[in-house]
Amino acid sequence: MKNLLKAWPNDRRDRRAGHEPPLAEDAARRLALFADIERSLSGWFWATDPAGCLSYISPAACERFSIPSQALIGQPFSSLFGTDPDNPGERSDRPLQFQIGAHARVNDVIVRLAPARCGVGARPAWWALSGTPKLDETGAFGGYRGTARDVTQEYERRIEDSRLAEFDSLTGLANRHRITRRIEQTLAAFKGRQRAATLMMLDLDRFKHVNDTLGHPAGDELLRQVSQRLLKVVGDHGEIGRHGGDEFQILLPDQEDRGKLGELANKIIAIVSQPYRIDDNHVVIGISLGMAIAPYDGAEREGIVRAADLALYAAKHGGRGQFRFYSVDLKDEKEERHLLEEALREAIAAVETAEDDWDRTQLGLVYQPVVRTDDHTVVGFEALMRWEHPQRGAIGPAVFIPVAEDTGMILQLGAWALRRACADAAAWAHPLRIAINVSAIQFAHPDFPGVVADALAETGLDPDRLELELTESVFMGEAEATDNAFKALKQLGVRLALDDFGTGYSSLSYLRAAPFDKLKVDRSFVDSCTLSDQNSAKIIAAIIGLADALGMETTVEGVEAFDQHDLVCAKGARFIQGFLYSPPLEQAVVLAQMQSEALRIQPHGPQRHRPERRSVFRRIGVIHADHRYEALLRNLSATGARIEGLVGVPVGTGLVLDLGAGQLAVVTVSRSEDAVIGVEFETPLVSDGAGGLVTRHRASAYALAAAARMVSASTPQFLEVEVRKRA
Ligand code: C2E
Ligand code: MG
Ligand code: MG
Repeated sequence: MKNLLKAWPNDRRDRRAGHEPPLAEDAARRLALFADIERSLSGWFWATDPAGCLSYISPAACERFSIPSQALIGQPFSSLFGTDPDNPGERSDRPLQFQIGAHARVNDVIVRLAPARCGVGARPAWWALSGTPKLDETGAFGGYRGTARDVTQEYERRIEDSRLAEFDSLTGLANRHRITRRIEQTLAAFKGRQRAATLMMLDLDRFKHVNDTLGHPAGDELLRQVSQRLLKVVGDHGEIGRHGGDEFQILLPDQEDRGKLGELANKIIAIVSQPYRIDDNHVVIGISLGMAIAPYDGAEREGIVRAADLALYAAKHGGRGQFRFYSVDLKDEKEERHLLEEALREAIAAVETAEDDWDRTQLGLVYQPVVRTDDHTVVGFEALMRWEHPQRGAIGPAVFIPVAEDTGMILQLGAWALRRACADAAAWAHPLRIAINVSAIQFAHPDFPGVVADALAETGLDPDRLELELTESVFMGEAEATDNAFKALKQLGVRLALDDFGTGYSSLSYLRAAPFDKLKVDRSFVDSCTLSDQNSAKIIAAIIGLADALGMETTVEGVEAFDQHDLVCAKGARFIQGFLYSPPLEQAVVLAQMQSEALRIQPHGPQRHRPERRSVFRRIGVIHADHRYEALLRNLSATGARIEGLVGVPVGTGLVLDLGAGQLAVVTVSRSEDAVIGVEFETPLVSDGAGGLVTRHRASAYALAAAARMVSASTPQFLEVEVRKRA
């Protein structure tokens, strides 16, 4: 109390003589009142000296922390307060310091007690402070007198409320509001500091289908489980937000390596695509992913979100279950997709009214032989859909089937294909099998067995000749409905094949439960089986062994060369479908082949399978010794390229290729002949998610502009020649 009296030296001068009780009595009464207030815990007092050091603090204020108030007297007032854990780097007492520094009035400023003051392990405490500067009659500052209240409970409740407002109640992930703010803050902080950040946009494939078939509670549970998996994969590399519905965003600060980002994207796709157990159902869902990298694809939130959105759109419509990096050519893809939908709608309407005048329609079926390997006999055909647009040319099924699925047109299109294929097969001289691809959306429709029965009845095709190719995504529907569909189809007497086996979410439990007659080994294993990736060959052997054990046939897809043929035959393959035997054929050609007694095809093709080297025809920049040349990129693989247009470049020369959009690649010339050079990349290129190749890193627009200034003035050492596109 001595301190307090020291701190209140002017009080006595304020008194007006004659109106008050005697001095000592008055002071005692005041002190008693003062002590009562302090004890009631409804408020405490504090005071500082002119230098800002504490000259008084109510002992009750310190009781909670087992620190005697005496220990604090004489210490700088501001040393009592610390940083805000929700805002690391930001001191909670900044406004207070500012006001005290300016000798201004302090009004209910909330500050967090410094952890050292609270004692080890103590819960954080928050105080609301008010105070008035004390001035003497000359106007000189004599320190502060103030009050304090403990507002920890209220404050924590407020934090919890704002946490609820920031996080999604279903998944616990950041909600749209929070992730939007985080993106904004991060990009603003990174701007001008040469720091990059990646935004991933994710969207579940066919989530609506799960919601429609299993109900909303199951849809919610799926979203929860997907979120858990995302959290596991992403860890502390970034922050995940639920953007709404089945869309997620992931912000990855300081990440721009497209090689690593591609790996992370693939990991996310693989993990999210594993089956889920929800109630008694197996649920399978895919995910598509688009990525944009700041500052290259945009420096502000709006730009980056738009870019990542376009990349997601492209990934979804490029066949789903894929990732894509943003690139400038994606801008038109949304518009393009809309046009494609319209064109497909027209093509389907035309085919339905065409009756038998097939030549005038854009949509058609072709038939690829399935061949028995021991005697090269054709045992059946697979029907594959083709679309020839009058202006756009051929559009592949990998492009238009997903469009048909998304718009529901697949039901019409699929029913038409069934009728058409059954009718064509019924006209063959040999009663060979006909396989037809069935989309999961078609399969999930309760009318599907009826559609199959109608096609058989209409065309008179023997049910045993019809094979329906399903993919594992048929299991994403409700288990009971799936079982019923299988039963109904088996009752019709048709055969069932599981297509693309080994991709996505293969699960052995499907094989046990579902009545498949055949497994089709996916082309991707054959593609890599003769390369260094020996696992593919082992997987092929394992799938064939498994199918044998379960009494199922196998067909190996995508055999293009003799080395692949020999290897898969050595692994036990008895049926092959691939370009080595035949590409898909028009019905007219099939009919002509049927004229011969036994249908045999001799394999013909390359001895060895060569991994694809992409032919390209693109102008690029070649930088050497500060000079920039224009040249043509003719051939590109992850490790090397062929470039035309420069004469006299010695082998071993180091160059920098400017592949556009900030992609600079350091290369060494490994071959040089006339105007053609072969180069090897110092760092291999990485996949762009859509079959293209890109550099891992990019140079910012700023660095490029500086480099362009540097290389414009120097003299050339090599001869630049014009190269034209060859026919
Ligand atoms: P899928 O059912 O796995 O069909 C096999 C695909 O591999 C076909 O591609 C075929 O042309 C191709 N292929 C066969 N042998 C080789 C080979 O040796 N090398 C290479 N590189 N490719 C080979 P296509 O016709 O482009 O069809 C792609 C996918 O589109 C099909 O994969 C199927 O999932 C879907 N699809 C095609 N037609 C239909 C249809 O009528 N309905 C439905 N729902 N989907 C269809
Ligand atoms: Mg197929
Ligand atoms: Mg397949």
